[in-house]
This record gives sequence, structure tokens and C-alpha cells, in this order.
Amino acid sequence: MPAPPCASCHKARAALRRPRSGQALCGTCFCAAFEAEVLHTVVAGRLLPRGAVVAVGASGGKDSTVLAHVLRELAPRLGISLQLVAVDEGIGGYRDAALAAVRRQAARWELPLTVVAYADLFGGWTMDAVARSTAGSGRSRSCCTFCGVLRRRALEEGARLVGATHIVTGHNADDMAETLLMNFLRGDVGRLARGGGLGSPGEGGALPRCRPLHLASQKEVVLYAHFRRLDYFSEECVYAPEAFRGHARDLLKLLEAARPSAVLDLVHSAERLALAPSARPAPAGACSRCGALASRALCQACALLDGLDRGRPRLAIGKGRRGLDEMGPPGLHRGQVQTPASEAVPSF
Ligand code: SF4
Ligand code: ZN
Repeated sequence: MPAPPCASCHKARAALRRPRSGQALCGTCFCAAFEAEVLHTVVAGRLLPRGAVVAVGASGGKDSTVLAHVLRELAPRLGISLQLVAVDEGIGGYRDAALAAVRRQAARWELPLTVVAYADLFGGWTMDAVARSTAGSGRSRSCCTFCGVLRRRALEEGARLVGATHIVTGHNADDMAETLLMNFLRGDVGRLARGGGLGSPGEGGALPRCRPLHLASQKEVVLYAHFRRLDYFSEECVYAPEAFRGHARDLLKLLEAARPSAVLDLVHSAERLALAPSARPAPAGACSRCGALASRALCQACALLDGLDRGRPRLAIGKGRRGLDEMGPPGLHRGQVQTPASEAVPSF
């Protein structure tokens, strides 16, 4: 059966059906709609003020690649400038290839790129060294626990280095829904209290962070990359987790099969979530070592590094620290299957 005409331009043949709305669109109209929706997310949420210098956390994976591409298209209208900031975690056989993809993107799009390395920022610690140090203690889970905390810090440092006023990351709606489910399942009130998808306003001197793709489904991110012919890195990290996130992802797939709007419903729920005053965690103070926001004497990053330096990494991820990312990271490096464009493009 021939494809129907595009429901937007009525000229070209439709090349896809939008996964959630079922609307049949040609590739050009789909990409235009996707970009308009991200623009609306940024403007309606007042995420990036005019004049903002925006550090894009660039991993080379599909989400950050799509984010950088869309923001580059929108930058003149938003009045913002972009800087790519990539983090080299020091993972042999993985990160070098991913960074090569980021370098190609920066060159093609003529965007400034800065790479910050764990080894330089964290007293010589690379993820490979952390993995060796934590071997035998639930290795893959520990790796992502450390890496999630350290990457957040590294991205902050890189963004400051380039004079950024804001940080954006490529988390999509599926990532957000998985994280919300995990926070509920673990009873992580601290994270639930910090709310939904829009990001953090920059408490405690940290740069404001936001997630302009937080309403975009993973399938549509893949479709956008496909129709814009974006070059991204899709292999999984060698420490890809067998972590709690995988269970949340499986659960979400079941929910989505029964109720296609489940992902977005969860994201919207998170935005409206309000905890009773008695359930809210106490306000955080400052880390005694680095000054970052901390609910204990040391912030998460300093506590992890302290444990590593003492040769007792388990101390830093034990009781009371389950709020650290034992769930494994969202996005490319999570070891999640990249939905191939051929699967994501519905055929007629
Ligand atoms: Fe770090 Fe991601 Fe690899 Fe885990 S999967 S070690 S978070 S890069
Ligand atoms: Zn600290």
C-alpha cells in the first residue's frame, strides 16, 4: 500500500507515523515539528534566557547529538550561544571512539568544543582505575555509581571553564520516566522533592541545568537523527550497567504497551509532584571540601573520591547513600539498545 500524503504539507508522501499521535508526516515536516516542540519547551519553561552561554553536555550519543543539532538550529531565535563540553571518563575502548564522534560534530557544525578529563579533575582517577579499585564489589553497578556523580561534577567544571551560564543535557522523556519510576521504587524522597524534568535552577552556586528534550520520546529522537542524517556513536560503554534502571525500563515498556501515553504521563506527574512539608528533606549545606551543595559534610563527589583515595570505595556508597546513582545512567552509555531507525520508522 502506498504511503499516505504528509498530514502537514499535503505534498510529499508520509515517511513515518509519529509514535504517540499516529500523525503521518514526511521527514521534513516531522523534523520541523520536532524542532518547534523543543523551542516551545525552552520558551514556555523559560529554560534559556536570551544571551545565555549554553554548555551542551556532548557524549557523541544520539540524545546529545540531537540536542546539539536542534539547539544550533534554534540558537538565532533564542538568542543563545553554544559550547560543546565533553567528558573523558578514561574508559579504554569506548570513550575514545565516542569523543571522536563529538569532534566530528564540532567540526561540522563549527561549534567550540572543550573536553574535560576525569584524570585531570579527580587526582588521576579514571573510570578504568575506579573499576580496578572496585573490582569484586559489584563492579558494573559501582562503576556507574561513581561515574554518574563524577560526570555531573566534570560537566559543571567544563561549563565553568568555557564561561557558560547554563548547562543542557540530552535526557529524553523515556530517561525521565525511568528515573522517576526508580525514585518511587526506592523511596528516594530527596530526588522526588527536586521534581520533574525541567532541571535544576542552580542551587548552591551550581550552574542552572535543563533538559530541553525531556518531552521528546526516545523513538522520536532516533527518528530525528535518522531524517537529519546525524552521525552519532551508538556502542555501549564497557561498564554498561546491569542495574536497577533496566528493571524500570522493562516496567515502563509494559506500561507503554498498555497505555501509550505512560511515558509522558509520568513526566508530567513529576512536574506537578508536591511533597508534604514533613516529607521534604532538610535544606542542603555546603561541602566542607569543595563548597558544592551537600546534605552531609562532604558532597557526593568528594565522598566518593575520598573513599577511593582511602582504598575503601564501599564506604562512600554504603548506607544512606543509595541516592547516588546505583540505577545506572540514562542515555547512550546506559547499555540500552539504541532503537535502530529502521525499527522506529513505521512502515506503511
Ligand atoms: Fe560511566 Fe555510563 Fe559507562 Fe556507567 S555506562 S561507567 S555511567 S560512561
Ligand atoms: Zn565536595
